[in-house]
Amino acid sequence: MAPLTVLGTGLAGYTLAREIRKRDREVPLRLVTADDGSAYSKPMLSNALARGKTPAQLVMASAADMAAQLDARIDTHTRALAIDPAARRLRTDRDEDAFSQLVLAVGADPVRPDLAGDGAGEVLSVNDLDDYRHFRQRLAADGRVLILGAGLIGCEFANDLAASGHAVTLVDPAPQALGRLLPAAGARQLEAALSELGVQWRLGLTAGRVDRAGSGYRVTLSDGSRVEAGLVLSAIGLQPRTALAADAGLATGRGIEVDRWLRSSDARVFALGDCAQVEGLVLPFVMPLMQGARALAATLTGTPTAVRLPAMPVVVKTPACPVVVAPPPPGAQGEWRIEATADGVLARFEQPDGRLAGFALTGTAVAQKQRLSRELPPLLD
Ligand SMILES: Cc1cc2nc3c(=O)[nH]c(=O)nc-3n(C[C@H](O)[C@H](O)[C@H](O)COP(=O)(O)OP(=O)(O)OC[C@H]3O[C@@H](n4cnc5c(N)ncnc54)[C@H](O)[C@@H]3O)c2cc1C
Repeated sequence: MAPLTVLGTGLAGYTLAREIRKRDREVPLRLVTADDGSAYSKPMLSNALARGKTPAQLVMASAADMAAQLDARIDTHTRALAIDPAARRLRTDRDEDAFSQLVLAVGADPVRPDLAGDGAGEVLSVNDLDDYRHFRQRLAADGRVLILGAGLIGCEFANDLAASGHAVTLVDPAPQALGRLLPAAGARQLEAALSELGVQWRLGLTAGRVDRAGSGYRVTLSDGSRVEAGLVLSAIGLQPRTALAADAGLATGRGIEVDRWLRSSDARVFALGDCAQVEGLVLPFVMPLMQGARALAATLTGTPTAVRLPAMPVVVKTPACPVVVAPPPPGAQGEWRIEATADGVLARFEQPDGRLAGFALTGTAVAQKQRLSRELPPLLD
């Protein structure tokens, strides 16, 4: 019998495989991954330094351990090259095999910054454990880090690096940190807290060139100023990996388009996690993929189950200034109402009729997370 096949062993692939095994011990299960198949929690990559964790300590289980736990065949260092949905066949750089049903859990690619200079190709991004191993090696040589992008991941790395003694400069074209997530009053507080750790802010600017200089780099910003750094880390965004699906003729938009059953435009092919666009929503976070994995495991084992997504606020891992955000959906009508608290802000995004559509909390106001979450409408009911 052809195996139920999952492409990817990130949080999406492994969580799904565990959920499948809770329901069905018999179905033949195959996982295919381009990496070494280590099970790890990706969110730890941006707070491991301050917690004193090495890349090796982030590995919770090897691929061999996972294969035994899941009673699954796991093909590591194996890249999927093409899918034939009609024939239900998957071609990799090692073999070609049939599948009964296929789940794409292939994640997202970091967006590459558009840079000139002979060091542009050496700008790092950290989106998996291999990237992180490389980043930590380079960090050991020179602790001056310039980060491109003051979004969620850029700010988390800035906090982690600065709190563990590194000299950090953050560059972002927006006039504030977390521009897409926080109203300005909340951002000021986060910026001040990170400044106290020594973070240098270069807001309202972009990097144009990265040139090699000595053992590090000289980065030229859009106002002509230059910053020297031992390494340059880009955290300017992620792009769902859609090429495999698109080449197979499956519908793709920003991500691989799936319905509430996480089914693609082919009834035997599904998508989950950072690569998926669920009813128009791209939600590259852990909670949505956990909810999705539970529903999809039921669907794949014979009980079609639509995914429900409650409002899921995101905790930003910046201990210097606690931040929780539940951004309003794109295009939501309304305005921010901002209440200053003793050490932060409680910002509600209210629709014209007064109903809550999003919120942002900093400082001790983060304690209001549960209460406000209950007021928010579900993302998918
Ligand atoms: C630094 C950082 C911090 C984060 N912090 C948080 C947080 O605090 N809270 C939160 O909710 N979210 C956080 N996120 C986001 C969260 O980690 C992701 O949403 C989640 O891990 C995505 O899992 P995934 O399995 O979809 O993708 P991935 O983990 O990227 O897995 C993709 C898998 O697909 C495989 N693959 C890709 N292409 C192929 C191919 N062609 N053939 C075979 N295999 C292939 C890869 O090898 C890999 O195994 C963070 C992300 C980062 C980068």
